[in-house]
Amino acid sequence: MAFGTRWTQNFGAAESAMVPSGLVPTTELGQTDAMGTIDKAAVFIVEDELSGFEELDEAQIRVDLAAAFRLAARFDLHESVANHFSAAVSPDGKQFLCNPKWRHFSLVRASELILLDADDPSTMERPDAPDPSAWCIHGAIHQRIPAARAVLHCHPPYASALIGLADPTIPPLDQATARFWGRTVYDSEMGGPPDDPAEGARVAEAIEGHSVMMMGNHGVTVVGESVAHAFEELYYLERACRTTVLALSTGRPLSPMGDDLADSVARMWTRSADQGLAHFAEMKNILDRDDPSYRD
Ligand SMILES: [Zn+2]
Repeated sequence: MAFGTRWTQNFGAAESAMVPSGLVPTTELGQTDAMGTIDKAAVFIVEDELSGFEELDEAQIRVDLAAAFRLAARFDLHESVANHFSAAVSPDGKQFLCNPKWRHFSLVRASELILLDADDPSTMERPDAPDPSAWCIHGAIHQRIPAARAVLHCHPPYASALIGLADPTIPPLDQATARFWGRTVYDSEMGGPPDDPAEGARVAEAIEGHSVMMMGNHGVTVVGESVAHAFEELYYLERACRTTVLALSTGRPLSPMGDDLADSVARMWTRSADQGLAHFAEMKNILDRDDPSYRD
């Protein structure tokens, strides 16, 4: 039987694996192996990916985070003046930078990123208080996960299309899609509006120990050991979702990699962190060529 056929049949299996909390961690998807879903052995990453913080340099983190906003706008990863990126600047991860409320991504400057404290209950009373959903989601993640040095949350078009499907999983169709094989948290649906602190806490708990989360009926969140690492993850995630949506749109049966090949390709990506750093540096060079004001 062709794997593509099995994949199609797995839609119902993945759906049945969804638990009442709305969360389908990779490990739980792995447990559906008997129904032919995802190989549990493909579950890896995390500790290795999130270890080794960069030397803390707030000025550099501001520039990198501002660049990430500008690049997200160029790649059409943003939606309106909502969505939020953040980056930790303290060793415990609780002091973090975030975009000003309702500032367009294409206009963000390094100096205007607001510095927040995940432990400060008066944050939303500040005159420069962030968007409520930014505080709920990013505050909860930075409070809970010191290793989440950068947290990028947005509603990219292809990922947003995929998370509206009964089975939002990304099949290993090519190298980019295989990057997410066995290491992505699939959240079947929102637990409530994103400006509800309970939803922020639920999301933070779900993504802990992982770096990629497909948020059902909402968007995506990625975390990384630096802004560059997280942006590369987000870049490839939307590319993988685009390939998946385009392949599905043909109506022809999919022909994904076998599990062993998908595992090996996914592991290959863990050896390619330097490529991501080089890609981010080159993208900043492009910004510098066209409009370096993000550095201001
Ligand atoms: Zn959102």
